[in-house]
Amino acid sequence: MKKNTQVFKFGGASVKDIEGIKNVASIVKTYSKGPLVVVVSAMGKTTNRLEAVMAAMKNSKEEALEKLAFLKTECNQVIKDLLGDNSPVFDLINDHFVEAEWALDEPFEKENYDYLYDQVVSIGELVSTQIVAAYFNSIGINTQWVDARSLVRTDENYREGWVEWDETQQSISQIVSPLLAENKVVVTQGFIGSSSDNQTTTLGREGSDYTAAILSFCLDAERMSIWKDVPGVLTADPRAFDNASLLERLSYKEAIEMTYYGAKVIHPKTIKPLQNKSIPLNVRSFINPEGKGTLIFNESEESYPPMIAIEKGQALLQISTKDFSFVAEHHLSFLFQEIKNYKIQVNMMQNTAISFAVCVNDIDDRLANFAESINNEFNITITHGLELVTIRHYESNLVNRLKAGNMVYLESRTGRTLQFVMKRVPLLTRKTEV
Ligand code: ASP
Ligand code: MG
Repeated sequence: MKKNTQVFKFGGASVKDIEGIKNVASIVKTYSKGPLVVVVSAMGKTTNRLEAVMAAMKNSKEEALEKLAFLKTECNQVIKDLLGDNSPVFDLINDHFVEAEWALDEPFEKENYDYLYDQVVSIGELVSTQIVAAYFNSIGINTQWVDARSLVRTDENYREGWVEWDETQQSISQIVSPLLAENKVVVTQGFIGSSSDNQTTTLGREGSDYTAAILSFCLDAERMSIWKDVPGVLTADPRAFDNASLLERLSYKEAIEMTYYGAKVIHPKTIKPLQNKSIPLNVRSFINPEGKGTLIFNESEESYPPMIAIEKGQALLQISTKDFSFVAEHHLSFLFQEIKNYKIQVNMMQNTAISFAVCVNDIDDRLANFAESINNEFNITITHGLELVTIRHYESNLVNRLKAGNMVYLESRTGRTLQFVMKRVPLLTRKTEV
């Protein structure tokens, strides 16, 4: 195990175009004495576009292949502009696109949708890292590209793979540590892994942060850094609030609370592995690499300002028994089993005598399928288009301002956290005549 190892994570926004890749390379170059591992996401909005390929498959395979081909043409253009006409990277990325095409040739059924999704969507990271690693080498950074599927081992829960820690630890020690010892900068993909029978899996959307945390944990890193297009962790999303301010320090606990409830700045699973080994996490800006950013560490709880996380795309499920009996333990156990089967993520819940209310992420047709599966025994109402608001260290003025013009469906307070689920409603204006 090499001492002082650092793990960097660069997200899609940082490598969205040639200028971005060059900027990332200049940051990496200043740290390239190492030991350094660089985890990279798919370029820009590539993952969304690969999801669109999968969505198109539902109607027409031609359309899906067309979308995929269009993406490939764009990638080839990036390679041409960045690495020239004769780069070996053209062939390398061609292989990844062929893998995706093969997946689209397999029977396209509901049962294997998540599996096929992972085979197709994972190429975004494979392609971006091939390009980035080749560019690093071309400017004199001694770089080794590593396939993250040989490092991050998961179960077969496609689209939300659970890490098998022992196998992962072993692979990372065997593969990454020797490369660091040879002073290579290791470039690998975020987000992707593989199951025990070597099928490609993914760790869930925005999972690249988590990959970097897995590597940090297994390499006993000295520090992990997430390079972002914002100055660090802010008290709220600066796109939604005018006066969000930078938090210079944050405890792991605070960071877990906020990210779990939708502060998009870091993937929620990221903190725990780092906390377990007391590895500091620095969230900082690739636009202003001199900025200090936010340092997340084991810090004694100090007083924090109010922090807001808003998670859109929520739905509220209100469930009651058909015979109006109480929602009892055996009902709950059945409901949770089905929630798990349909891969529904629960963000908030409340149990009253005759109904059970849950706020969940509204993804694809999962809720409709879930509703169908419990339809025999339960009545269910689904309200779509909600927002889940979480405020840490809340303060009543702020709460009232956030609720104004909204209808609140569900609310809970625990310790320093206030949460509510709401939907914008048109304000009633009274007619002057009446
Ligand atoms: N490219 C993946 C996504 O957009 C993973 C990541 O960026 O973290 O979800
Ligand atoms: Mg991303």
